[in-house]
Amino acid sequence: MNIAIIGTGYVGLVSGTCFAEMGATVTCVDVDADKINKLKAGEMPIYEPGLEELVKRNVSYGRLNFTTNLPEALGDVEVVFSAVGTPPDEDGSADLKYVLAVARQFGQSINKYTILVTKSTVPVGTAQKVKTVIQEELNKRGVDVPFDVASNPEFLKEGAAIKDFMSPDRVVVGIESKKAEEVMTKLYQPFLLQNFRVIFMDIPSAEMTKYAANAMLATRISFMNDIANLCERVGANIDYVRKGIGADVRIGQKFLYAGCGYGGSCFPKDVKALVHAGIDNGYHMEVIEAVERVNDRQKSIVYDKLIRLMGDVKGKTIAILGLAFKPDTDDMREAPALVVIDKLLKDGATVRVFDPIAMSECKCRIGEVVTYTENLYDCADGADALLLMTEWRQFRLPTWNVIQKVMTDKYIVDGRNIWNRAELEEMGFSYTRIGEK
Ligand code: NAD
Repeated sequence: MNIAIIGTGYVGLVSGTCFAEMGATVTCVDVDADKINKLKAGEMPIYEPGLEELVKRNVSYGRLNFTTNLPEALGDVEVVFSAVGTPPDEDGSADLKYVLAVARQFGQSINKYTILVTKSTVPVGTAQKVKTVIQEELNKRGVDVPFDVASNPEFLKEGAAIKDFMSPDRVVVGIESKKAEEVMTKLYQPFLLQNFRVIFMDIPSAEMTKYAANAMLATRISFMNDIANLCERVGANIDYVRKGIGADVRIGQKFLYAGCGYGGSCFPKDVKALVHAGIDNGYHMEVIEAVERVNDRQKSIVYDKLIRLMGDVKGKTIAILGLAFKPDTDDMREAPALVVIDKLLKDGATVRVFDPIAMSECKCRIGEVVTYTENLYDCADGADALLLMTEWRQFRLPTWNVIQKVMTDKYIVDGRNIWNRAELEEMGFSYTRIGEK
């Protein structure tokens, strides 16, 4: 099968590479010439475990190509996936300018029946707008080329994107025609041979499914953070509470960890977009609004706890472990670490940081206002306090004797609840974590 993927970011590059791995011939298109040149030179523009090897293999077999030339890429394809960004507009609604630009170019370029599948996360009603734009372009050309639109929201997680795409829990596809259903079935069959689960539905339901899924996951996080903050006040232990409720199969164990708030490119913007969709339709999304408010407050919790623990931080040196919004990615979009760094700098603290992967991303975002260090121990060197913001595996078992020796003072705020209070207090550290004093 010949397919094109428009937008070569986290979703587009991973999807395109995985389709190529299954034997499809894939052309990945992007307007960012720098990104395309890097990929042509074998350099990955993003960090994602296992991606580089898979890209190189499929490029070498001639099944994966990169270009900035969209009309050329559309020449001989059956399906075009649109995986461009849908960032939040100023009012929180999803900005569809990239999605509609792709629709326009699609309408300007196709010469035979082709399906345009939207993989980007878009509000209900977008497929209708996409259809209108394509038809306008065909009318301008004075041609009558048949086409279909479909919705195929993506559920991969950064940090486990290849695994998620290669063996998904389910694939959701919104379609309007039997033909589109057949093509999408053919395309996804190889990924789901063991447990074939493409869930077909109408397009508005597919568009809504993605928002509902992200909003549900964000809700679990904010819910647990709210419960943790109450546990702290009443003297209960959030880890026991989590185990106690997670054992109920109706609740399940996943996504129940209290922490310093969710970030990333998806939850914050999708929660905002859903609230906005409510406003547009005269409905108040009360639960989702509260999810966002709780998360905004939680992003400062590590800073708030530090101030309670050590008082004024002016002139102090604070070490921050973890910059990415979660482990195994270099993505720092909406990362809680950015909020904490900003507050510490405003207070006049000196900030030292370390992240296994996201250091250059951090430099691009905030420059040299913090000190970038070589490793965990270098980061702690001379620090009065150590803050954990991202639960990278390599931070789980540090050699505390070394940290104890290099730190100037002994304050620790564990924003991800991965360290052992008893062990650290015995060594003379003042330790606090989420859900405890
Ligand atoms: P991204 O910003 O990493 O990539 C988007 C790419 O699209 C960029 O490289 C950009 O240059 C390119 N682009 C923009 N306009 C273009 C055009 N007209 N033609 C060609 N390329 C164009 O975004 P992402 O994180 O991959 O997310 C893409 C979509 O998928 C969003 O709607 C997002 O909400 C959704 N999504 C993301 C994730 C995730 O984990 N990142 C997961 C599921 C869904």
